Amino acid sequence: MRYYSTNGQAPLVSFREALFNGLAPDGGLYLPETIPVLGQSFFETEHSYPELAAEMIRPFVSNEITVGELDDIAESAFSFSVPLVEVAPDINILELFHGPTMAFKDFAARFMARIMACFMRDMKLELTVLVATSGDTGSAVASGFYDVEGIRVVILYPSGRVSPTQEKQLTTWGGNITALEVEGSFDDCQKLVKQAFLDRDLNDRRSLCSANSINIGRLLPQSVYYAWAWQKQGGVNTVFSVPSGNFGNLTGGLIAKRMGLPVEKFIAATNANAVFPTYLETGEYLPQPSKATISNAMDVGDPSNFQRIRSLYSNQLERIKGDIVSFSFTDSETANIIEDVYQRCAYVLDPHTAVGYLGLGEYRKYGRTDASGIIMSTAHPAKSQDCYSEQLKTEIIIPERLAQYFEREKVSIKLSDKYDDLRQFLIDY
Ligand SMILES: *Cc1c(COP(=O)(O)O)cnc(C)c1O
Repeated sequence: MRYYSTNGQAPLVSFREALFNGLAPDGGLYLPETIPVLGQSFFETEHSYPELAAEMIRPFVSNEITVGELDDIAESAFSFSVPLVEVAPDINILELFHGPTMAFKDFAARFMARIMACFMRDMKLELTVLVATSGDTGSAVASGFYDVEGIRVVILYPSGRVSPTQEKQLTTWGGNITALEVEGSFDDCQKLVKQAFLDRDLNDRRSLCSANSINIGRLLPQSVYYAWAWQKQGGVNTVFSVPSGNFGNLTGGLIAKRMGLPVEKFIAATNANAVFPTYLETGEYLPQPSKATISNAMDVGDPSNFQRIRSLYSNQLERIKGDIVSFSFTDSETANIIEDVYQRCAYVLDPHTAVGYLGLGEYRKYGRTDASGIIMSTAHPAKSQDCYSEQLKTEIIIPERLAQYFEREKVSIKLSDKYDDLRQFLIDY
C-alpha cells in the first residue's frame, strides 16, 4: 500500500515512511492510496478483537511487516475489553476506556508504539518521540511507549492547565519517559514541537518523530472498534455518534465504512467548538481559536483531520453530508444530560461521551431514523471528576488503574516557552 499527502505535493510513500514522517513534507496528512473493501460477510463473521484488528489493518501494512508480526502486535496492543453497554432501548455505549490510561487514545498509541518498535528492531537508531498534549494524548503515548527499547518519549504539557489526574498520568513514569512542564498554553507547547521538527540542525543530531493525532499509525486502529461494535449489536442498521475534537476517531469510522461496514450515518458531536457543524451547514471552513469547555479534550478550533475528511470525499460537500451530520452542544446541555442519564439509567457519562449522547438524541429528534444507535464513549468519568455535582462524584468509583498514579511522585522538568530552551534540552539529555 502506498500513501499520498492530502496536499498533493509530496511523493507517495510506504506505510513505514508515512509512520515515521508523521506529517508529509508538503504539510499535508497521509492517507492510503486505495481503501480495500472487505465486504459485509467479513464483518458478519465473529472474531476476537485482536483478530478483527489484524485483519482490518493488514491490507494497509502488508508486505512491510509479516502476518505473524502484525498478529502479535494486535494481540499485545488490544489486550483489554471493549464492552458495548445498552443503557436504554436502542441506546448503546461502546466503552473505549478500558485501556491503561482510560481514554480511547490507548487504542491508537499502543498500536503505534508497537508497530514502530517492530520497524526499529533492525534500525540501530535511537528515536525521540516528541508530543505536545493538553491531557489525554500524552499519557496514552507514555503508556504505549513505556519501556520500548530504542525510543525515548518527551512530553510537553502546559503548566497548571491539565487536571491533577492528567498531570499525575503524565509525570510519574520515569524510565524512557520525560515530562516537560511548559510555562505557557497548549498552543505554545504545540508551537515548540513544530519548531523542533523544522529545525534542520537539531534533526541532524537527533532522530525526532511525532506521535500526535495526525500520524497515520494512530488512525488505522481507530477503524476497528466500529466494526466490533456493529457486530456485537447484531449487525443491523446503525448510526454512530462520535464525540469529536480533531476528528481522528470519526475519520477511523469513515474508513471502516469505506471498507464495507454498513453504517447509516455518522454523527459528529462537538462542544462549543463548532467549526465542523458550521462547515456542513454553510460549506465554509473557518478555523477559530479554541474555546475552553468541560469536554476539554475536544477543545479544538481547527481540527487536524478535516483535510483527511475532505480528501476522502474528493472535496465534495454533498457527499460528506451524505455520510455525516454534525451538531454542537453547550456545557450546560452537557452537564444536564449527565444528570438526566444518571437519574434515568443509573449510568455516569463522562463529559465527552455526554456530547455524543446529545448528538444521538438530536439526530433522532427529527424522526430521521429507526437505526440502532451506538455512542462512542471516549473516556472513563473518573478522569473528569471536577465537572460533576457532589452527589455524582460519590457515585464514581476510581479504578485501581487510575488510583495507582496518585501514589507515585510527580517528576517534571520546568521549561520556558522559548524554543532555545527546548532545543538545548533535546541536545543535552
Ligand atoms: C481526544 C479525545 C476526544 C476527541 O477525539 P478526536 O479523535 O480528536 O476527535 C474525545 N474524547 C476524549 C476523552 C479524548 O481524549
